[in-house]
Formats: sequence, C-alpha cells, structure tokens
Amino acid sequence: MKILHIDKASWDKGVLKSGETYRLTGPVKDKDTHAFKNLNDGELPDMGYVETKMSPKALLFPRSEVMLTYSTNPHDGNCNIMKEASKAYPPRAVIGIRPFDAKAIQLVKLNFDTEEYKDPYWLKAYEACTFVGLAINQPSITDFSTSCNTGPFDETGLDVLVVDTGHGFLAKILSTKGQAWADAAGFNIEAGADAASKITAMKKEAEANIVSKISVDKIAGKTVLELFDAGHWEDTAFGCINCGTCTFACPTCWCFDIQDETYGTQGVRIKNWDSCMTGLFTMHGSGHNPREYPYQRTRQRFMHKLKYFMDKYQEGIMCVGCGRCIKQCPANIDIREICNTMNQ
Ligand code: SF4
Ligand code: SF4
Repeated sequence: MKILHIDKASWDKGVLKSGETYRLTGPVKDKDTHAFKNLNDGELPDMGYVETKMSPKALLFPRSEVMLTYSTNPHDGNCNIMKEASKAYPPRAVIGIRPFDAKAIQLVKLNFDTEEYKDPYWLKAYEACTFVGLAINQPSITDFSTSCNTGPFDETGLDVLVVDTGHGFLAKILSTKGQAWADAAGFNIEAGADAASKITAMKKEAEANIVSKISVDKIAGKTVLELFDAGHWEDTAFGCINCGTCTFACPTCWCFDIQDETYGTQGVRIKNWDSCMTGLFTMHGSGHNPREYPYQRTRQRFMHKLKYFMDKYQEGIMCVGCGRCIKQCPANIDIREICNTMNQ
C-alpha cells in the first residue's frame, strides 16, 4: 500500500492540476455550512471543513434527474417513443468526501446495482467517480459511525484516503483509480517509513473520541413482527412532523418517485427524491393509504434502516452514523435512542 506525503502548498497546486483531467467536486462554504459542489476553475476544496448539511449523495443521485424524453407530436418521427436523455459522464474526482459518506455510497449501491436491476444513471455517475476521502480527525458529538461498521478513517469505497497531519497530508492510495488521480495531480513523493503507524495512531485517537454508540446485536434475532408490533411506536414518533428532513439529509436514503412532465408536445420523465415520511409516498390510486398515520411512516423509516435492510442484504444496518438526521430534526428525534429501544 503506497502512502504519499504532500505538503500543503503542493496539495493546492496538484489538486488544480488534476482539474485538467477530472471534473473536480469538493466541499465549499455555503452560507453557514459547507456543501459538495463542482469546483470552478481555480477553486479549491476547503479541506478544513467540518461537515456538510446535505450528504454528497446528490452527486450520483440528483434531487431531480431527467431519465427519458419524448414527443407527442404526430409529425415527429419519434412520436410517443421514450428516448434516453443524453448525458455526459466525464471523469470526476470527489475530493474531501468523508469516510462515512463513501461507505454510504456502497450501501446505496446494494440497491442500485443488483443482479436483477441496475440503475444506469446512478451506475454511470458512480463509475465516473474517483473518491478522494478526507479522514475525520475530530469527530462530531453526534458521530456514532464506529458502531455502524464504519468510522472516521474507514477506507471502504475510497480510492484515496487523505489524512491531514497538520503540517501536510498523507495520502494512502487504495486503488488504481486513486493512483491515476495522484498521477494526474503530480503527487509522487512517498512518505517515510513511519507514515502507516502515524495514520494508525491518528485513527485510534479519532475513534476513541467517538463516545456516541448504538447497539443492534439483538435486532437481528428478533422477528419483523416483534419489532413492528412493539408498543413504543406511537410514543417514539409522537414529536415527528413527517417533514422528511432526515431522509433528504441522509446519505443512505435512496427513495425516489418518477413523474412525467409534458410541455405542449414535448415531455420528460424525471426521477425525483421522495421520502417515506410523506403521506403521498404510499397513497394508492384508490385513495387507500397503508401508512395513513404519521407514526406508521416514522416506524417505516426506522424499520427499513435497522431491520429490513439488515435482513435483506446481511451487510449491517442502513445507517453510517453520520449524525445529520440527529442534528437537523426539528423534533429532536434521535435514531440512536430509537435503535437502542428497538434493540432492547
Ligand atoms: S424524524 Fe424529524 S426530521 Fe425526520 S420527518 Fe420526523 S420531524 Fe422531520
Ligand atoms: S445518522 Fe441519520 S442521516 Fe446519518 S446515515 Fe444514519 S440515518 Fe442517515
């Protein structure tokens, strides 16, 4: 495993140089927070950022994405034929993505890249990406990633793991894609022999700072109905206003809706983010709604993340412990408390 040393001035120059080969995306200041955005010419990712309010999932799964186009004009040779919207997927380097967000992409991939079904839009965007992660030296108070099969230095789903040592960066190359990005940036100075042990020590320190934990050990052994019919759901969901903030901010929530929009004789079929927290999500054409009451929707969210996903994929829970939903919920609904209630 190659580890490179990059001083901070060389980092800036190298990242900009890699922009000649890649479309660069990274965290930039956005009002009172940071957001992942495509970087303009000469713009650098803010490697000192703390967190992004929204996860970077929209890079692969846009909030609204045109999938198909059509014409209803009888004089048009392609009348009433759906055509795939033409899109380009140039190589993209996602710089500064946090390890739990890269892990979340791997969980979402379980759903969008299956034997039976593949989402071509998500997959093409995914394959175009090189993920250059930034380790978290100081985890947030709501970070419970170490009890979600990931952590502040997790390498899962990353092509490069960059560690800020204060004086410079150590970049651990994890894949051929990562090596190609480092070559494009001109990063080629190998770090000293103590680099690996330094990263291990920083990783241990960061993990030790995560005091927030959840337990799921008993959930796997319980039946769906034991959890579904448990008596706590109405109390648990009492404050929830079904606003959907948690689902939109979450890096692992993948639900979408498909709508056709026609303007005159031209139309588009669009995939839009949706949320299990809204009443319309399960409303049938007949008017019947199997999740008529708000508590049923809240229950669905937690059952999906903490039980159905675990049973279906055997890859742990559908949560990476980023803490966004905890920080942003207007009703102080805390997945850690709910998970521990379900577990008990
Ligand atoms: S749990 Fe919180 S953020 Fe999520 S829908 Fe309910 S009130 Fe909104
Ligand atoms: S902590 Fe909340 S927002 Fe983060 S992955 Fe888990 S459920 Fe999603």
